[in-house]
Amino acid sequence: ATERKAVFLFFGGTGDLAYRKLYPSLFNLYRKGNLRSHFAVIGTSRAKMDDDKFRAAIKKSLADSGNRTDSKEASDFVSHFYYQDHDVTDTAHYAVLKELMDKLDKKYKAEGHRIFYLSMAPQFFGTIAQDLKTQGLLSDEKDAFNRLVIEKPFGRDYDSAKLLNDALSKSFDENQIFRIDHYLGKEMIQNIEALRFGNTLVESLWNNRYIDNIQVTLSEKLGVEERASYYDNSGALRDMVQNHIMQIVSLLAMEQPVAFTDTDIRAEKVKALRSLRVYNVADAATNFVRGQYGAVNEQADYRHEDNVPHDSTTETFVAGKLLFDNYRWSGTPFYIRTGKMLADKFTRVDVVFKRPLVDIFAFPQSQNTPLAANVLTIFVEPHAGFSLQLNAKTNDTGFSTEPIKLDYLVDAQKSKDTPEPYERLLHDVLKGDGTNFSSWPEVSYAWKFVDQIRRVWDLQEPQFPNYTPHSMGPAAAEELIQRDHREWVYRL
Ligand code: NAD
Repeated sequence: ATERKAVFLFFGGTGDLAYRKLYPSLFNLYRKGNLRSHFAVIGTSRAKMDDDKFRAAIKKSLADSGNRTDSKEASDFVSHFYYQDHDVTDTAHYAVLKELMDKLDKKYKAEGHRIFYLSMAPQFFGTIAQDLKTQGLLSDEKDAFNRLVIEKPFGRDYDSAKLLNDALSKSFDENQIFRIDHYLGKEMIQNIEALRFGNTLVESLWNNRYIDNIQVTLSEKLGVEERASYYDNSGALRDMVQNHIMQIVSLLAMEQPVAFTDTDIRAEKVKALRSLRVYNVADAATNFVRGQYGAVNEQADYRHEDNVPHDSTTETFVAGKLLFDNYRWSGTPFYIRTGKMLADKFTRVDVVFKRPLVDIFAFPQSQNTPLAANVLTIFVEPHAGFSLQLNAKTNDTGFSTEPIKLDYLVDAQKSKDTPEPYERLLHDVLKGDGTNFSSWPEVSYAWKFVDQIRRVWDLQEPQFPNYTPHSMGPAAAEELIQRDHREWVYRL
């Protein structure tokens, strides 16, 4: 592995995300040799703590994610960690961070490379970025990089996202900003590109002549849990559709990039999003449905979860139809759905092909059932793999057909060896590869689309709750697709 050099500064360095995902991911990069001796990590938050206590917390975070921590490797790794308490709203205090960064840069010979990771409440993103620049924390060493990594959410509508982006742009160029969408770090989401552009069989059929519709489902089994106060201000449309679903859809819909580089891939994703039809009020109302879960047995309804107002109109479920006005997709809808407290936890994409134009097996005397559609399923999680449904002859003397499946499931060992999204994404940041991050144009088109749905929903009081826990959402989600004489491939 190529060793990467950098000093990391983690804002929100004592937060849940940092301990649960970010530090264990850095450790994996360390074990693989992507980080060796020329790196240091500074954690900051308001809490007071010395380096030793912080290092003990890092060890605990490694142990909690299944690592042995009694090794020399683990001790060497945590020796690169430093802690500095800091209130992000205290501009003068950035000088202390600067001094520490400069010192560690020299000590570990990191050559001036700096990664600023904002893992805290988004209302601080703008000020932090500004203070990093005005207080001189950006390195000006020749050939050194300064990179800013931002957690979600990126705004709550187009206007707020634009304000945030304008604020960040004062200190960082677009190619220095890495907006995390951890779905883009998932193995099978990245595999969409391999599947499409590595296979004649797939890509030559990947259009409205052969594909009837595409379905994307991000289904969660749990309710809001301890994230309720955040979630109630957001809802499924902002929390899942604007970012993860729009990213997946743009990878499915885009044209082939000229080259496999971040610039080329982003350009194609942006083009796809530009041709996504932004609905007027009437179309938004018919093409999107929302839901909120009710009660069942001991499970409280959403409005009686802790920290949720009893009259909340926040949606915990969304289903919708997306239409692209371009040559490749005109007439082929993308159906999407996501929600909490559904039947199961999984993410999958189902690509439904058109049936043969003529079914020669359905001659008048035949008893044959009509040919089934070919369906290509991409299993993203919990299991990774593909499945292709074809029609074949049944093994009897007559002539009937039946759907059969070609399955490829990634085996358990391979799954275990697959890097976690955050490990991949941190590695990409170290390399300066922006492929698997959301660029500003993508984010802005996604918000403009989603804002129209929100606008319509905000005009009307929803009839909530409207779905039973452990189902696949409200009846309206079935009607949405049945109206088009289609059905969800994954159903109960
Ligand atoms: P958290 O609440 O656990 O941690 C927040 C951190 O910010 C803490 O270290 C806290 O001490 C620090 N902080 C708060 N106010 C501060 C101030 N004024 N000055 C300095 N430090 C301050 O949050 P989290 O769950 O770790 O999430 C961090 C970010 O990641 C958020 O943007 C969140 O939306 C995003 N995110 C989290 C998850 C997750 O699984 N936890 C998933 C996706 C995105």
